[in-house]
Amino acid sequence: MSLSTLCQRCGLCCDGNLFSSLPLRRSEVEPMRRLSLPVVERTDGTPGIEQRCAALDGRCCTVYAERPEACRRYRCHLLTAAAEGEVSVEEALGVVDEAHARIRAVEAALPLERLGSPQAVLQRARHEDQPENGGPLPRETQELWNQAESHLDRHFRGRHRRM
Ligand code: SF4
Ligand code: SF4
Repeated sequence: MSLSTLCQRCGLCCDGNLFSSLPLRRSEVEPMRRLSLPVVERTDGTPGIEQRCAALDGRCCTVYAERPEACRRYRCHLLTAAAEGEVSVEEALGVVDEAHARIRAVEAALPLERLGSPQAVLQRARHEDQPENGGPLPRETQELWNQAESHLDRHFRGRHRRM
């Protein structure tokens, strides 16, 4: 099974669950606007594309040939481990499936999506946890959310989270 199978089944680095934006070079701003991708200012003042990415259709990039440099260069921890043979593609697919299952569990525990709330489930959890949006979330939901974030931290972001 090829490495591309992994990304085709995953999409987490584009769907807003791993990141809330991705960096753009200044020279990429206009080309991305022409592709109708919303450009945002990141917390450090640099331009970025909002995630969930508007170019994502299911788990596929609809602007693949014109995607920005950050997308071309990005490899999560899991993809790197699979490319270097530290885990098999089959094992990595299991990790991807578990990530999606954990995210679905958070989604099922969240209040119904409201107008203006983020589309990505883990961003929505962050949003709903804020007092101005009715938070904090119930403890059971927070635990599911923490477990999902820990799984992403460990396997995709390549860092460990303190619970
Ligand atoms: S998070 Fe990793 S495995 Fe998933 S689509 Fe992105 S690079 Fe591929
Ligand atoms: S442009 Fe394509 S590869 Fe880049 S974040 Fe959007 S969907 Fe993903």
